[in-house]
Amino acid sequence: MIPGPFSYHRPATVADAVKLLSNLGDEARPLAGGHSLVPMMKLRLATPEHLVDLHGIAGLKGIRRDGNTIVIGAMATQHELLASDEIGRSLPILDETALLIADPQVRYRGTIGGNLANGDPGNDMPALMMTLGASYRLEGTSGAREVAASEFYQGAYFTALEPGELLTSVAIPVPAAGHGYAYEKLKRKVGDYATAAAAVVLTMAGGKVATCKIGLTNLSETPLLAEDAAKAVIGTSLDPATLKKAAAAAEAIMSPAADARGPVEYRKHVGGIMVMRALQRAAGRAS
Ligand SMILES: Cc1cc2nc3c(=O)[nH]c(=O)nc-3n(C[C@H](O)[C@H](O)[C@H](O)COP(=O)(O)OP(=O)(O)OC[C@H]3O[C@@H](n4cnc5c(N)ncnc54)[C@H](O)[C@@H]3O)c2cc1C
Repeated sequence: MIPGPFSYHRPATVADAVKLLSNLGDEARPLAGGHSLVPMMKLRLATPEHLVDLHGIAGLKGIRRDGNTIVIGAMATQHELLASDEIGRSLPILDETALLIADPQVRYRGTIGGNLANGDPGNDMPALMMTLGASYRLEGTSGAREVAASEFYQGAYFTALEPGELLTSVAIPVPAAGHGYAYEKLKRKVGDYATAAAAVVLTMAGGKVATCKIGLTNLSETPLLAEDAAKAVIGTSLDPATLKKAAAAAEAIMSPAADARGPVEYRKHVGGIMVMRALQRAAGRAS
C-alpha cells in the first residue's frame, strides 16, 4: 500500500518532459493516469525515484480527425474516448473495448497512452491497435518517430520505447464505411484482465468476407495479430467449418501463461472461442 519515496516533476511541454526523462535516466518514469504504475509502486514492484507527471502538458490531450485518420493524444482518458462523438462514429470498436476495460473510476484516470506504453500483455488496447493498423508517435530528445503498433511490442513490459522517449499520440486509420467489428473478452469479473480476448475488424462483400484483421489479447507475452486465422476466413461466408479453422489457426500462435485464470490449454481453447464469437458478431454488423 505504501510506495517508496520519489521526487515529483510536472513539466508543461513534451520537450521539457523528454529532457527531464533523459536527464534523470532509468530512475524516472512518466506518470499518466497512474492506474498501472501507482499500483505497482504500492507493491514496491516499481520503485522509481522520480515521477514525471504528464498532466500539465496540454499538447498530449485531445481527439481529432485528420483526413482519414483519427489522432488521439496519449493523455486522452478511456472515459474521454467513450465520450467522443468522433470515436463513436468512426471507431466504434474503440468504445466497445474501452467499456470492457477496468471500471468507471479507473476509466476516468487511465489513458490510452498509458495503456499502450505499459507493455502489460493484459492491457486490451494494444491488440486492438494492431488490428486497426495504428501507429504510435514517439518523441525523445533527438526528435520524433512513428512506430507501427505491430512493431512496438517485443515482450512482457518490453516495448520499442527508447529510454527518455514518450508516446505522444496514436494515429488510427478510419476503417471502411460499413465495416463490421467486435471485441470479445472473457474475464472472471468486471475490472479483470482478459483470460482471453479477440478483436476483429472486417468488411463483407456479397455475403463473403472481403478483408479481415484479428488481434489477440493476453494470449502471449505480447499482443498478437492472428494473420493465418484472418487469411482463413477471407472469401468465405464464415460457415462453421471455416470458423473452426480460424480458431485453430489463432490457437496455433497463442502461448498464454498458466495463472489464476486457468491453465494454458484452457486459455488457448477459450481464445479460439473468442475469435469465433468476434468473427460472427463482426460479420453480423457489417453492411
Ligand atoms: C482495478 C483495475 C482494473 C484494470 N483493468 C484493466 C483491463 O481490464 N484492461 C486494461 O487494458 N487495463 C486495465 N487496467 C489498467 C488501466 O487501464 C491503466 O490505466 C492502464 O494500463 C495504464 O494507463 P495509465 O494512464 O493509468 O498509465 P500509468 O499507470 O500512469 O503508466 C503505465 C506505464 O506506462 C508508462 N507511460 C504512461 N504514459 C506514457 C507515455 N505517454 N509515454 C511513455 N510511457 C508512458 C508509465 O511510465 C508506466 O510505466 C486496470 C487498472 C485497474 C487499477
